[in-house]
Amino acid sequence: MAGRPRVGVLALQGDVREHARVLTELGADVSLVRRPTELSEVDGLVLPGGESSVIDKLARAFGMQEPVRAAIAGGMPMYGTCAGLILLADRITDGISGQETFGGLDVTVRRNAFGSQVDSFETDLAVPALGDPAVHAVFIRAPLVERVGPDVQALAALEDGRVVAVQRGALMGTSFHPEVTGEHRFHRRFLDIVRAA
Ligand code: GLN
Repeated sequence: MAGRPRVGVLALQGDVREHARVLTELGADVSLVRRPTELSEVDGLVLPGGESSVIDKLARAFGMQEPVRAAIAGGMPMYGTCAGLILLADRITDGISGQETFGGLDVTVRRNAFGSQVDSFETDLAVPALGDPAVHAVFIRAPLVERVGPDVQALAALEDGRVVAVQRGALMGTSFHPEVTGEHRFHRRFLDIVRAA
């Protein structure tokens, strides 16, 4: 692929601008994706943080569920943060009634896994795949990866071992939000995946 990678941010709900800003700063040609035709014009897609049940409903209402699933099946690289990770999970726990995902990552993800007592927190995470320094991670009503399929790589875990970042091939997801902390290495990794795809 010559030149700048063309990537989209799924722009149905959530922190779309924050992702678009990081990707633009990293030199990508960024567009907002709401329709199947817009999806067909990008080589990779970011699924933002927000509310996964709302993004799911809007995706179905806008006729985006099947096209996104087809893109995943076709190998399009995708990176989901928080709600976006939930949307990439094959299985979810504590979804709202009838909540669906796009799927693609063989993981089980629990929504709002930290409960109402601990809505949000920040911590420094070692992420061997990214090297030093540690990632300063912000968790906001965050999900946890409870089960990791055999082909899925855990990229990061909390000190107690609970997994908060995963990758399988061209699909990557984090429970936290690098897009709000000036942490660009996950997005850079995503763009590398897009360039290689
Ligand atoms: N709790 C939200 C959900 O279930 C995710 C929160 C977030 O993206 N920061 O989708």
